[in-house]
Amino acid sequence: MMELGAVVCTARAPRCGECPVAAWCEWRGAGYPDNAPEKRPRQAAFEGSDRQVRGRIMALLRAASAPVPVAEALGAAADGGVRDAEQPRRAYDSLVSDGLVVELDGLARLP
Ligand code: SF4
Repeated sequence: MMELGAVVCTARAPRCGECPVAAWCEWRGAGYPDNAPEKRPRQAAFEGSDRQVRGRIMALLRAASAPVPVAEALGAAADGGVRDAEQPRRAYDSLVSDGLVVELDGLARLP
């Protein structure tokens, strides 16, 4: 079925004439109604985002062989630029809140 969607029934140009399930296709049977779902809104830019800052922290912790001081994690978060002074802390706290980072005795590590 995945190959059918990738090769025959593509979103832009379905090749119904070559389709092995054309006889059972409800969309074709209904006369190809214009009922495509709304396009998803574009995701906010990654550059300068909290996601990017979170990624820096995760990269640091993934590369570390031992727990890292929180101050070092916050420094890595800011390394490369931030939107505002609170962004490193906000990104770090959100990782802890999401359970992706564990903090103990001033040290941060992956769970
Ligand atoms: S017949 Fe239906 S399933 Fe087959 S290609 Fe056309 S739209 Fe897709």
